Amino acid sequence: MKQNRKPKQRHTSKKRLSPICLAADDPAIIEKRSLHPNRVRDPNETEWVLKSGMHSRKYGDRVAKGTWVNFPVFSFTLEERATCPAHCSQFAICFGNRMSQPRAYRYRHGQALTDQLETEFQILSLEPETAPGTVVRAHTLGDFYSISYVSWWAEQLARHSSLHVWGYTAWTPDCHIGIAIAQVKRDFPNRFRVRWSNRPGEEDSVSVVSGLDKVPNDGSIVCPYDIQRVKNCAECGICWESRKHVVFLEH
Ligand code: SF4
Repeated sequence: MKQNRKPKQRHTSKKRLSPICLAADDPAIIEKRSLHPNRVRDPNETEWVLKSGMHSRKYGDRVAKGTWVNFPVFSFTLEERATCPAHCSQFAICFGNRMSQPRAYRYRHGQALTDQLETEFQILSLEPETAPGTVVRAHTLGDFYSISYVSWWAEQLARHSSLHVWGYTAWTPDCHIGIAIAQVKRDFPNRFRVRWSNRPGEEDSVSVVSGLDKVPNDGSIVCPYDIQRVKNCAECGICWESRKHVVFLEH
């Protein structure tokens, strides 16, 4: 089968608003995998899965204000589509389609990944620099892939009081994985700040629009990073500090 066929692109006036949109018969869609399979690797003991936010233009390295102030930021990435619900509104236009650069590694999900993360959480909880608190942006790409994986997060949060998690999920609150996520949100309301995706207008959720003219006038907040009002998430913090609906611009 032909792999990595050049995807069809939408054409809009700004690069920011031109996602790479895969056709329904693209192998990456049919096989539920990354468009860049050579960027998917197994976790291994020679490198950290968690990457400092200082290497991310979007996240930033240390929270600048709010209840998580001064906590260093880390992130990690799963494989897009392989771990995501197929109903995700971004399934074909996932911004992972654009992430082909050499260092854009996705880590294969499973026991080896959670084992490695446990080791890293343990180290972070003991190091003087990170013991007071750390922020983990869960899944730059990808999603909570099973109920047991969600339960694993609950165990980590119970084990490490310094661990603070922020992210998004395309699972709905009433599906089996969504119900498990909602329970962790209730159990750790200030440390497990995972928002629901694709739920326009709803509190504690996010949605994506194709342009500023599509932002609803209902009190939703446009992500300040997307409109160049902040340098990075560490400087903003809306996603974990606020419950208001956040709107992202398609990219
Ligand atoms: S609203 Fe703020 S914290 Fe959320 S993604 Fe945008 S910049 Fe980051």
